[in-house]
Amino acid sequence: MPAVLIEDVHKSYGKLEVLKGVSLSVETGQVVALIGRSGSGKSTMLRCINGLEAFQSGRIEVAGHVVDQDPKRLRALRKDVGIVFQSYNLFPHLTVGQNIMLSPRITKNVPQAEALALAKDVLAQVGLSDKFDSYPDNLSGGQQQRVAIARSLAMQPKVMLFDEVTSALDPELTGEVLLVMEKLAKGGMTMILVTHEMNFARNVANTTVFMHQGKIWEQGPSRELFAAPQTPELQGFVKAGA
Ligand code: ADP
Ligand code: MG
Repeated sequence: MPAVLIEDVHKSYGKLEVLKGVSLSVETGQVVALIGRSGSGKSTMLRCINGLEAFQSGRIEVAGHVVDQDPKRLRALRKDVGIVFQSYNLFPHLTVGQNIMLSPRITKNVPQAEALALAKDVLAQVGLSDKFDSYPDNLSGGQQQRVAIARSLAMQPKVMLFDEVTSALDPELTGEVLLVMEKLAKGGMTMILVTHEMNFARNVANTTVFMHQGKIWEQGPSRELFAAPQTPELQGFVKAGA
């Protein structure tokens, strides 16, 4: 069974139909890049996948959870699905270590000692072992985003979603965040990521999905998709360098 299964999902905000019958299947360990113009529905799709948005019809299953708005099922779903946004929203009054330990402690009742070990482990994974006792304000944007990724990893998710996590960063800071994501991908994490980083999509994602006007317009193995886009819309998008 795929890690993520999306079948004919329709989503509207009022009269505006934003997802017009989206279907996608992601196998365990696969990395899928979502690309497309602003407003094409990429973020909405990610938000539907972890139940942050309700959808009107279709079906989504993630890591064995049926996604709907039932609070109990949503809680179970969110233990298995991590999401990282462009804005990292770390708590400024908590240290890096405390930020990371918070969710496992509160939502999973992980004992203190275990949460501490887990936090150290995920912080090492993002290359920030020395920042455990630092406060977010004393870190660069790239470091803060890496902490946000570590915070998500501390929940030991089965699927990770990333929505333009480097878009707010200065260009010299995006590389370190992309490296962390690449390492995660190579470690076998199932990932769906919205990105403007075309090289990252081409080189790291197994599959790239091009969204246009609320539909999956074109998808395929990343290298093939970029080398030979089939539709004029994707050709134009690739040519414009996103
Ligand atoms: P993308 O991430 O590809 O830029 P979005 O999924 O954010 O696209 O948005 C798709 C469309 O849905 C856009 O037209 C956007 O204005 C609209 N939209 C997104 N969120 C909302 C909302 N909460 N209420 C109303 N319209 C929204
Ligand atoms: Mg978006």
